[in-house]
Amino acid sequence: MQSNAFQKSGRQMGKIVVGCWDCDYCGADRISGEIKICPNCGKPRGKDIKFYMAGPKEYVEHPETINKNPDWLCPYCNTLNPDDNKFCSACGAAREESEQNYFESKEEEQKKKEEREEAERREEAGHSTRSSGGSRIPILIGLVGVIFLLIFLLMPKSRTFHVDSKTWERSVSIERYQEVEDSGWDLPGDAWDVTEKREVYGYQSVLDHYETRTREVAVEVLDGYDVTTEYKDLGNGYFEEVEVETPRYRTEYRTETYEEPVYVSVPIYKTKYYYKIMKWLYDRDEKTSGADNEPYFAEPSLSDKEREGGRSEQYWLVSGDKSYKISYDLWKNISAGDDIKAIINGNQIVGVKN
Ligand SMILES: [Zn+2]
Ligand SMILES: [Zn+2]
Repeated sequence: MQSNAFQKSGRQMGKIVVGCWDCDYCGADRISGEIKICPNCGKPRGKDIKFYMAGPKEYVEHPETINKNPDWLCPYCNTLNPDDNKFCSACGAAREESEQNYFESKEEEQKKKEEREEAERREEAGHSTRSSGGSRIPILIGLVGVIFLLIFLLMPKSRTFHVDSKTWERSVSIERYQEVEDSGWDLPGDAWDVTEKREVYGYQSVLDHYETRTREVAVEVLDGYDVTTEYKDLGNGYFEEVEVETPRYRTEYRTETYEEPVYVSVPIYKTKYYYKIMKWLYDRDEKTSGADNEPYFAEPSLSDKEREGGRSEQYWLVSGDKSYKISYDLWKNISAGDDIKAIINGNQIVGVKN
């Protein structure tokens, strides 16, 4: 890609065109750029005028006699003076005291205008947020309402019901130390009956070779130049004719060869051990259950190759043909025959109200 695709080059043709300006005081328009004082009201052209081109082009007969430098602005009376003048033609102030030429004063004006517009935009934006803030409040209230409704609907409901009976179930899980067949990439010290095998541990991607391939690539190629005539404001009532060449590019596709690496998957082998070993494994549950108020855990008689692996317990309240799970702390304070006000979530009682 070419980075200078839109660079312009200007060629000066040596031709100079007379521009015009409007009097900002009396409104007389299309005054010739060669005239420096308004022919209608006598005001010298100054800070607030702007040169432009209009009507049929009037070429200067001897362009080499024209000073191409912009007018300078008198800091005292704001009159624009030709570059050749050493003193202001209106008030006589010396040129050395001038701080701006035509273009510099226009630039400053533009900057001030942008700042004004930016300030106005900021003020407008401030107004609009304030006014739209009011309309957001009802939406916010509605949203809060919906959230409360959802919470209410999803909240567990409390219901009064009659407890027909209570049940419980407790369980002790038993583990047994037993011989098992196992395998692994490392051999535990207490294993026996060990056999070894070479097995695939994983795969590795390895560069095998390169393949020459082709691909299409887009290239921007200079196609030619578009030539346009433009007029450059000299800032002194004249415009200079300039030929501007804009390079034009076209996209060409070329075939390019490149080397593509080709990888192969190679297995990695390692020694895997197959062996026998003693392990504690789950064997059975010893359960107890009842419909009374005295739950207890089983007390299994364990051999020297057995141990307890963990305990669990569950409690229910039965009403009609339904059973509800409940925690022990709630369960122990409720008796069969009670009428309770319970908070139910699914098939679970999560709270009881008195
Ligand atoms: Zn005038
Ligand atoms: Zn002056």
